[in-house]
Amino acid sequence: MTHILSADIGGTTCKLGIFDKTLNIEEKWEISTNKTGEGILENIYDSFVVHMNRKNIDMENIIGMGIGVPGPIDFENGIVHGAVNLNWTGNIEVRKHMQQYFNGPIYVDNDANVATLGEKFKGAGRNESDVVCITLGTGVGGGIVSNSELIHGHNGSGAEIGHFLVDQNKRFQCNCGMKGCLETVASATGVINLVHHFYPNINMKSNIHDLIASKNVTAKDVFDAAKSGDEFSLFIIDKVAGYIAYAASVISVMTNPKYIIIGGGVSKAGDILLKFIKKHFEKMTFRPAQEDTHIEVAQLGNDAGIIGAAGLIKTYVLEKENQ
Ligand SMILES: [Zn+2]
Repeated sequence: MTHILSADIGGTTCKLGIFDKTLNIEEKWEISTNKTGEGILENIYDSFVVHMNRKNIDMENIIGMGIGVPGPIDFENGIVHGAVNLNWTGNIEVRKHMQQYFNGPIYVDNDANVATLGEKFKGAGRNESDVVCITLGTGVGGGIVSNSELIHGHNGSGAEIGHFLVDQNKRFQCNCGMKGCLETVASATGVINLVHHFYPNINMKSNIHDLIASKNVTAKDVFDAAKSGDEFSLFIIDKVAGYIAYAASVISVMTNPKYIIIGGGVSKAGDILLKFIKKHFEKMTFRPAQEDTHIEVAQLGNDAGIIGAAGLIKTYVLEKENQ
């Protein structure tokens, strides 16, 4: 058996791939998700068959199938507890459903975890056994690989870094129902929360005053202004970075990662955000837990998901066989 099938299911498209044992991409393509509910699983299987036929690959050559889904997962049983973006409600038994078509190993995990595994194997994680990924997008997601395995916890809520309480003043409401989560101060929306909170109360000039005053300012505007030295924007980025560093610092005394990888749209701010995160991280983290720990920007972009979904088979099938 020499190939791994991989699917990264998203709200509008599903990325599919055929991988070799070392997680090199042999072929990747996309199909439309089209809100077909569970029907998407059958579409995925059909599409795999078409592409395998073209490459003369039989099902007997398949080691396993890894699937990433944007929703909360019961990892042990391969069940998704609803996925709003896919129009999936209730409990969807993804593994059981797929087993109708394929009777080899099937692993299912959430999109943040599979992206983390992708970065661990083929991206900024450099195949190290202890890696953390913090994804800053419209929300904040994350994953923790400790001793070469993803942390899931007893009910699947492990490594939900976005809901780490970092703002002790609990200034902003989170989508999860709580206040003060990392997501409320470090996502694209979080950056803007901080802008509108501080700007009226702080005596600093800003080149993006008009955008802020008209409430049209975006996270990208803030980062762009910061890069050109805008005092207020730099102040905001320093705050955002401080919160991210605090989460990274606590994770570091727990799992002591070698790489802390910052991904997602907000991470496109690049060096300037990283520089501030590192400054805070060094100040607040237990010395031995920060020694030889590197904070870096994610490398794989959109491919992190399918690489990581294939990585589930590498982690939970191939590496187990070798133990
Ligand atoms: Zn939250």
